[in-house]
Amino acid sequence: MKKINVGIDLGTTYSAVATFSKELGRVQVLKNSYGKDCTPSVICIDNGSIMVGEDAKNEQKSGNVNTAAFYKSMMGDSNWSAFINGQEYSAEELSGLYLAHLIQDIKSTNSIDIDGAVITVPAYFNDKQREATIRAGQKAGLKVLKIINEPTSAIIAYGLTGGKEKNVLVYDLGGGTFDVTVANVNGTRIDVLATNGNHQLGGKDWDETLINQVKEKFYSEFGVSIDDHEEDLKELQVKCEEAKKLLSSVASTIITIQCDGYLGKYTVTREDFNDQTYSLLYETILLIKSCFDEISEAQNRPFGWNNIDEVVLVGGSTRMPQVKDMIIKEYGRPPITKDINVDTIVATGAAMQAELCVSNSITLTVASSASANSAKSSGTSMPTAPITLTIHNSDIQDITAHSLGMLALASDEKSYINSIIIRKNSKVNEPFSREYTFSGEKLQVYVLQGEARDPYECDIIGAYSITGMPKDNKSKIKVNFLYNSNGVVEVNACLDNGIVLSSTRENTNETMSEIIARLEREKKEAEEEAKRKSRIEIMLMIDTSGSMSGNRIREARRAAKDFVKEFDLNRVFISVISFADRSQYKCKWENDERRLYHAIDDVDVNDVGYCNAETPINNNYKKFTRDCPRVIVVLTDGYWNDQSTEETAADRAKADGIIIYGIGIGDADEAFLSRISSGKGKKVDLSQLSATFKEVASSIATEVVGNSLK
Ligand code: AMP
Repeated sequence: MKKINVGIDLGTTYSAVATFSKELGRVQVLKNSYGKDCTPSVICIDNGSIMVGEDAKNEQKSGNVNTAAFYKSMMGDSNWSAFINGQEYSAEELSGLYLAHLIQDIKSTNSIDIDGAVITVPAYFNDKQREATIRAGQKAGLKVLKIINEPTSAIIAYGLTGGKEKNVLVYDLGGGTFDVTVANVNGTRIDVLATNGNHQLGGKDWDETLINQVKEKFYSEFGVSIDDHEEDLKELQVKCEEAKKLLSSVASTIITIQCDGYLGKYTVTREDFNDQTYSLLYETILLIKSCFDEISEAQNRPFGWNNIDEVVLVGGSTRMPQVKDMIIKEYGRPPITKDINVDTIVATGAAMQAELCVSNSITLTVASSASANSAKSSGTSMPTAPITLTIHNSDIQDITAHSLGMLALASDEKSYINSIIIRKNSKVNEPFSREYTFSGEKLQVYVLQGEARDPYECDIIGAYSITGMPKDNKSKIKVNFLYNSNGVVEVNACLDNGIVLSSTRENTNETMSEIIARLEREKKEAEEEAKRKSRIEIMLMIDTSGSMSGNRIREARRAAKDFVKEFDLNRVFISVISFADRSQYKCKWENDERRLYHAIDDVDVNDVGYCNAETPINNNYKKFTRDCPRVIVVLTDGYWNDQSTEETAADRAKADGIIIYGIGIGDADEAFLSRISSGKGKKVDLSQLSATFKEVASSIATEVVGNSLK
């Protein structure tokens, strides 16, 4: 059996499938088993058997609660699911099942086999909705060639006439979504200029107005709430949609509803219906206006209705006369309706795109626009000779409907913002980059979609973890962001020398407030860690045995003060200890210069005995408060009684990362000082003591901390 590629308009309410015929140079819409071009996007799952389309819609009409419709607008929403026959289904699963059955029906009706498919989505669909659509197609066993925006698809089908340059506005009001797209069409080239929309606004909202009206009338007449009767409610939904469609051709109709033994009969008029739904229509006008504003901003000159050459209506809901009336009022001219089938135009463009995906170019046979124009002006209806147009895949340049940003700390470092990287209406397939200097092991980037600066108003696309950076130093990392041709976000990263890093997307279930709370916690922890790491603790041990009296203790105090002066006391905390027979703290972890001087002045001979019986390192090295750079500076002028205990303690302290400087004057044992010191012990003349302490201070700065301490 012949394998073909198709375009699928997976609509909220109706779907259509089409294929491009190379032989004919045009698209053929593939009929379903009911002989129709469009198949209702309704699914019924009843006791293990699945029905879609007309059959499912009939079940819905008869009140079967095991039916689902309008699930498309819930695509990608992990909080939404339908319970059918006791089982839970996501919109993606329902779409997958629906597509599988639709494709089966099309295949058997048309005796064809289907290979690849281009599936259309509203231009306003975000990343999650697009990805969910791709997965739904794959679940249905389709090779998804591409995801394409519905309005762009409509322009491909409608606009490629080879005529002169024009700006086309596509007004696409379907069953559940609204999109407005403006594109510049020049010969075979299509450049989408801007797009806007609301994926929660569509024909179903117009239905809802009638449904609510009937519910209210029924309640006031019989005191019965139809909401309490699920089957009757399903029936009412179908009847109101039918009434709405009728109002497109007649001025009034009657909706009858039976519920709880009562029969209600209500007349609805088009005039009332138009009044009650005006706010919905107005919402579409506002979206068109903001589309114009965006183009004006991008082109730096005013852009409005007068720059539009043609308005094309797409989607079943544009059959409502109120839409055409509104276009005439705003635009001053009627929209193009001739030769356009609003139900199949999107599938037609998708079928052309499917062929473009596999062949890269297509040759299309169209009516000559030049001869069509001359026929129009002469008022004759002479048949026009068709022309052929060759269209290349690269002729179609689509844009993105949403800005892409990342969660970033605001410049005040107090709040988080959505820092925009790719602006809305930027061309797809064009990468944008951000550079970071980073020294950690994992760079985490939260990617957001939305226009607002406030991240709470944006969609979270995912958390991308970038790893594989060199461990040794700070790396320059280039993170690349891209909307691919499906409008799906891609993030990757490389080093500035081009080496590609690993970037994985973690689908996060965290809410924005959870993410921000966690980032704040991590930031605080990192700050505390940095603070902890930047603190330096020094124990300054001064021998106060009898031999230190006179000049020695005076010089020791002077040298100790000079030592203190060398440091930035915001970071350095000093304990001053005098020792002889015992140790005594003159101050503990002090960083106030005045108090430190006072403590040093307090160091005096015979404070704690006459001899060198104490082992000051042994008794104090465990008294540092934290795991930061720690230093012991010992000044002595004599021989200590218990050198071996002190040496063992010094070895342990050094093994624990403590740096020891031993300074000797007078009768100090230089060899012993070397044994307890991290480097070499120093024995100096008393006149050199201050200079030696200053040298020790600068050694602490460069060797222990690795930078200046001032
Ligand atoms: P689509 O998603 O493009 O198939 O559009 C389907 C929507 O068009 C549904 O909400 C239908 O109720 C609506 N629709 C179809 N025909 C008409 C009509 N004649 N008048 C008003 N709405 C219509």
